[in-house]
Amino acid sequence: MLLFWGRLYLKFLLQEVIVLRQRIHKIFVVFLAMLFLLAGCSSGDQSGQQVEQMDLAPTIGHKDVNNDTGELKVHFIDVGQGDSILIETPGGQNMLIDAGERDQGEKVVNYIKSQGIDKLHFVVGTHPHSDHIGGLVKVIESIPVEKIYLPRVTHTSRSFENLLEAISNKGLKISTAVAGVKISLADGEASFIAPVGEDYEGLNNYSAVIKLTYGSASFLFTGDAEKLSEKEMLANGTDLKADVLKVGHHGSVSSTSSNFLQAVSPEYAVIMCGSGNDYGHPHKETLAALSGLEVYRTDSDGTIIISTDGNNYNITTGNKIAAQDKVVSNKDNSVYYIGNKNSKKFHRTDCANLPAENNRVYFATCEEAVNQGYTPCGSCNP
Ligand SMILES: [Zn+2]
Ligand SMILES: [Zn+2]
Repeated sequence: MLLFWGRLYLKFLLQEVIVLRQRIHKIFVVFLAMLFLLAGCSSGDQSGQQVEQMDLAPTIGHKDVNNDTGELKVHFIDVGQGDSILIETPGGQNMLIDAGERDQGEKVVNYIKSQGIDKLHFVVGTHPHSDHIGGLVKVIESIPVEKIYLPRVTHTSRSFENLLEAISNKGLKISTAVAGVKISLADGEASFIAPVGEDYEGLNNYSAVIKLTYGSASFLFTGDAEKLSEKEMLANGTDLKADVLKVGHHGSVSSTSSNFLQAVSPEYAVIMCGSGNDYGHPHKETLAALSGLEVYRTDSDGTIIISTDGNNYNITTGNKIAAQDKVVSNKDNSVYYIGNKNSKKFHRTDCANLPAENNRVYFATCEEAVNQGYTPCGSCNP
């Protein structure tokens, strides 16, 4: 009998401990969220048109200078389905916009380090979706960051909690990304032109949108901003014209409305998406809207680097073969080779032995198919 009551009491105690742990976790999350909101409020008060003063000038001429070519370099890092953009200014300032999913964090860190960069002056998490901020945790843990911008919105996901934790562990204060806030670049200009509003249904429209200009060259980085945000940017009277457009929301039909595209009127469009992604990105409607432009895609081109001296652009892609394929592919857009998930063979798109729709996997190049363990079909000989 005594044993019975003893066990019961022990069980009760255990339950109490579990409930307590859950409570502590909840309190911790709420605490982090409050910290974030407070930080957001404090810098939000100074938003508007104010230029944020930073002591960045001293870094010029120091070790940080890793780019003495007089060129601005923008790397659209291939992180599969997600965004990650690294910007190097001629004066040696570095900015990172997003870092893909959590499992891409290490790749992004290695990529940044491989460019000789050991410090990020600005980091922007466009919005709390994991395909944008997941990898930022690893980045913040691995590379010194001076300033981090996030839009003023919270999310209950693990990746967002981890991000807030990493930020607080490094003693960083979050600055609010909101239309009108300028990023103090020593050379060139960068400012947030969205989010314009403060209350949206989905997280995508909270996306921080950045316009970057250097000389007469210009870039627009849109995150996952959708048509509503595009409409607000237009209504705000923002000068949207940019030579290079990072196409919104991985080329989804949710974004790139015709009015917006017309106002930006880019020469080059970059779509960041993973090959064979679950969402069918980029959507064919978006590709049709972009026809006539020079379109680059991380799923087929790998990492895309666009350098500019302020006038001319030089574009290189990680996968040169893909770049050649792209010219051919502009006729039929996205797919070049089709693999069979079961037989692990891959085919030309006009092969008579194509697998059933649900067994297909798509490749931009033969190399990509071979790298993933697929062998060429004997009859169409890709
Ligand atoms: Zn996304
Ligand atoms: Zn998103």
